[in-house]
Order: sequence, then structure tokens, then C-alpha cells
Amino acid sequence: MSKKKLELYVHIPFCEEKCNYCDFLSFKADDSEKRAYTAQIIEEIRAQGPNYSDYLVSTIFIGGGTPTTLSGIWILEIMNAIRESFTVATDAEISIECNPGTLSKSKIMHIKKAGINRISFGLQSSIEEELNELGRIHTYKDFLQSYQLAREYGFTNINIDLISGLPKQTIDSYKTTLKRVCSLKPEHISAYSLIIEPDTPFFDKYGGEEGSLLLPDENIDREMYVLTKNILREHGYERYEISNYAKPGRECRHNIGYWTGVSYLGLGVGASSYLMNRRFHVESNYKKYMSINMKKDITPLYCDLEELDINANMEEFMFLGLRLTRGVSVHEFNEKFGMDMFEVFDRQIKKNSMLKLMEYNSPYLRLTEKGLDLSNMVMSDFLLD
Ligand code: SF4
Repeated sequence: MSKKKLELYVHIPFCEEKCNYCDFLSFKADDSEKRAYTAQIIEEIRAQGPNYSDYLVSTIFIGGGTPTTLSGIWILEIMNAIRESFTVATDAEISIECNPGTLSKSKIMHIKKAGINRISFGLQSSIEEELNELGRIHTYKDFLQSYQLAREYGFTNINIDLISGLPKQTIDSYKTTLKRVCSLKPEHISAYSLIIEPDTPFFDKYGGEEGSLLLPDENIDREMYVLTKNILREHGYERYEISNYAKPGRECRHNIGYWTGVSYLGLGVGASSYLMNRRFHVESNYKKYMSINMKKDITPLYCDLEELDINANMEEFMFLGLRLTRGVSVHEFNEKFGMDMFEVFDRQIKKNSMLKLMEYNSPYLRLTEKGLDLSNMVMSDFLLD
């Protein structure tokens, strides 16, 4: 019997400094803490592996935080534990998030040795003033050095993350960043708009009415969104998801799995999972996570178990799948749920097709260009009563 497909997400919660806009589960830590966490997550991996012997791991994503704040040897140890405990496909896509300024020759050698074949750089902007305002630890020059190092060591699948709508950002400065990044020819670019999250220094500064006036206004934000699409298209990047662009064949397999409902298991503090129609996450209190005896009992690891009923599953299939520019497969929906998509979402499909926000191109139902621009509005329509 062929094995089921599983994606792994490995959370490393450490960063050199906390960025001003960040609400992820990440914090500063010394080497002994990082060493202890590495040992604990390896125990978790070893305890979990046997529960997934009928799965084949198709992708692994080591994210954070900044996974590359760990030493290269610890990253290698984590990957070795995964390979010993799970069955990893020979062609698995294995990504690591990396902050420029945290990469050395020795580290990149270990990353390579660990079989990691994709690097995702959090650049965000190429303009020093904007990087300073974000509280990033690196300069654009640091990024260039890290990027060249990755290329020198043979990494042929690289993503660069960018953010638009930043304080002090102008159309010209954003254009400069897009053009600089394109000239480096990474295989993949993620371009998101800044979101001001509660409980961050940015929220205190820009979250209120007065503060928000210091950010690029809606029209500029819109212009940046259009600029992203146009400049990246001119440079041969295909938009395959609302905020993600890739050279042909270089789409992120891990994220596509997430948007198309492939099962994934989160490992490490706070990591989320989706398996057998259930969502749950690992204990997100760091102290509690570290105190769990993984050899004895891993049940205290899991929190907020949510069973998704058929309606919730169908809604999610639509919300996530419509993020992809190819859309959702009608055949896949009908097969998975034993129902006809055009009957279940009759009202929504008719209404959004009439408004030219959606179109059917067999076997995919997808958002039009205009629908992608208004995706939040269209998707909110797909809630079932
Ligand atoms: S590097 Fe990433 S995870 Fe770390 S603080 Fe900055 S935005 Fe957050």
C-alpha cells in the first residue's frame, strides 16, 4: 500500500533581536538555551516518528523565528533525527528560513550536508532606512553576502521575502527593492503587505489614527501591489498565489500542500498541525514545552484540538485553494467530499461569476485578476450557514 503524504514544519523560536513589527513566537536566547531546545525538539521528533510510519514526508519546512541562529551542527542533528524517525521522500523539498547576517561558511556547509535544498531569506527591503525602521538586524550588504554564499555552496532554489507598505517607503524606494531583487534572479519571491499586529512596537507607533497617517496611504499601497505584479511578471516570475511568485516549476511545494489540504505535522513549541480533519498545535508556552518528558508521554504536547466538520472542511478547501491563481479543482472537491461543488456553493459561484470575480476553466474554478485583487471579499462569501 502506498504511503500517505505528510509535510513537516519544524519551529525554531529564536531570533537575534525582535523586529518591531513581529508577533511570531520568537525571542532572544543564549547558546545554552538553544542547545537545550535542540535536544528537546529532537526528543519530540523521535517520539513522534513511529506514529507516522504509514506516511511519506514530501516536504520539510524549518521556520521560526530564525532557524539559522542555531549552530550548523544542531541544524544537522535535527535533520538527522527527522530522517531516522520518519520516512522522507528522496526528492523531498527541504526549506530553511534564514535571516541575512546569521549565515557563515561553516553554517551553510552544515545546512547543505543536512540535505536542505531550499533557502528562504527574510530580506523585506533593500533600503537601509526601511530596514532600520523595521528593526532588522541586517543591512542590504549583509543580505548580498549571505545570498552569494548560498549560491557559492550550490543552493539553486532560493526565496526572498519582501514587505510593501512600510513606514518611510515610497513608490521609488519599493521599485528599487523589486528591481534589485529581480536582478539577483532568485527562483521565488514572496511579497506581502505590512500588517500592523497588536502587541508590537509598530502597533504602539502606527496602530492608532495619528500613527497610521505615517504609513503609505491606501492609494500608494495599491500602487505598490500593482507594481509588484508588473515588475515581477516582466522578470519572468509567475504569480501562483496571491502573494507568491516563482520562476516556472519553482513554486514552493510545502506551501502549495498547505493551500491544497495536504496533512502537515508541526514540531516544536507552538507549531500547528492539520491531520485527519483535525487542527491542533503544540504547547506554545515555552517553559511548559521544555518541561515535557517526551520519552514518557507526549500527550501534554497538544492543545486546542479542533475537529473540523464537513462544512468547515469544505469552506477551508475553498478559502485556501482560491488563494492559488490556478484555483480549486472541482474534481478533487467532488471526490473528496462526495458532493458537487456547484451545488454546495451554488449561490456564491453564480454571484461571483456574474461580477466577473470568478471563472470556471475545467477542472479549475478560480478567481479572476479582479477577484484576486478583492480576494478577502470573495472568500468571506464562501462561509456556509
Ligand atoms: S526575524 Fe522574523 S521571526 Fe524574528 S523577530 Fe524578525 S520578523 Fe520575527
